[in-house]
Amino acid sequence: MNAVVISRSSQSSEVGQAGDNSLMAFDVERVRKDFPIFDQKVHGRPLIYLDSGASAQKPQQVIDAMSTAYETYYANVHRGVHVMSQRSTEAYESAREKIAKFLNTNNSNEIVLTGSATEAINLVAYSYGRKFLKAGDEIILSHMEHHANIVPWQLLRDDVGVVLKIAPILDDGSLDLEAFEALLGSKTKLVAMTHISNALGTVVPIKQVINKVHEHGALVLVDGCQATPHSAVDVQALGADFYVFAPHKVYGPTGIGVLYGREDLLNTMPPWQGGGDMIASVTFDKTTFQKAPLRFEAGTPAIVETIGLGAAIDYVSALGMENIAAHEQGLLHYATERLNAIEGLTIIGTAPDKAAIISFIMDCAHPHDIGTIVDQMGVALRTGHHCAQPVMDRFGLSATARVSFGLYNTRQDIDTLIDAIGAVKEFLG
Ligand SMILES: *Cc1c(COP(=O)(O)O)cnc(C)c1O
Repeated sequence: MNAVVISRSSQSSEVGQAGDNSLMAFDVERVRKDFPIFDQKVHGRPLIYLDSGASAQKPQQVIDAMSTAYETYYANVHRGVHVMSQRSTEAYESAREKIAKFLNTNNSNEIVLTGSATEAINLVAYSYGRKFLKAGDEIILSHMEHHANIVPWQLLRDDVGVVLKIAPILDDGSLDLEAFEALLGSKTKLVAMTHISNALGTVVPIKQVINKVHEHGALVLVDGCQATPHSAVDVQALGADFYVFAPHKVYGPTGIGVLYGREDLLNTMPPWQGGGDMIASVTFDKTTFQKAPLRFEAGTPAIVETIGLGAAIDYVSALGMENIAAHEQGLLHYATERLNAIEGLTIIGTAPDKAAIISFIMDCAHPHDIGTIVDQMGVALRTGHHCAQPVMDRFGLSATARVSFGLYNTRQDIDTLIDAIGAVKEFLG
């Protein structure tokens, strides 16, 4: 095992130690060597992974950071005086600081670690929603939300009687800003909106949205699950009240989620789960709670996964989010051009500002058939409603095929995709 790790790290890029990003050209071939999953064939062909929007592959640096934690300093955090517990706690809390920096807050008390991005949104709906919102208060969502940013608010509606309003989108998949503004009023208390649509790739002008919402004295929760992998995010510059992301989509592990919340706001919110770690003191009569973030982190956390996320953040930060974004924009434009040239293929979501996500349909094939056929050629793409049924309905569709790019994708990947789509046409056209 050790030998494998050593030989791999000797051939992998030294992104963990890279110095000046701006001078370092983005070398995708070098970067790909960091991802062991690409060392194999599927159906006898190289793996063309175009499903990073659902979950991204992991670089060796993340896998190694997690193995090293288990192999050399693993223990439970926050409770022990012994050396392993202290080392684990140090690594765990230092990962929290990296997450804070990644979102550009210098206050790691604003970083709450949850079990998933979905859980982070549920946390706000339960804790903030049930304490501060009442019947008749309005929450605005957009028409292109992921189910994770719809259903928690519906549960809140059914519990306390808040009213959900839906901001429409235009035919190209952009947010209809005018219609959105018209929904804002004195009853608006919260806007929960995606930063980038996972189904369409639309980049929402979220800063503009936040400014408008704040003029009305309401709060904004941003679903940043698709923004954090594709662009640098600065919660201070945005002025977001809450910002949520999914570590497994940023080349980190599954099993954790991140909620950024303004510290003053978090400390007004009651715990939503009780247990160890979140208390200051417990008697059978009365329990007092820690401040944020620990008050929202009942129970043993995902220690090693959090350390893995810290390594993932080191990894993308060393490459430079701007460099990653520029590389992916190149892929987006090339793929859009090539897909548009295919007769009988229609791209769904053509907003001027998009991230590297492309949904499409074909006249000759159901999305599921597209997915099955291209898989035979080693191409992994996603088909279905992408956990965003309302936006599929908006376009009169039940499903699309979706390609979503990561930092390791290449133009050759797109060429293979185009060949594979050619095979779909031959087969079914
Ligand atoms: C993936 C995703 C989520 C949910 O993330 P989980 O990891 O499944 O909790 C929410 N919103 C968007 C936009 C997503 O892409």
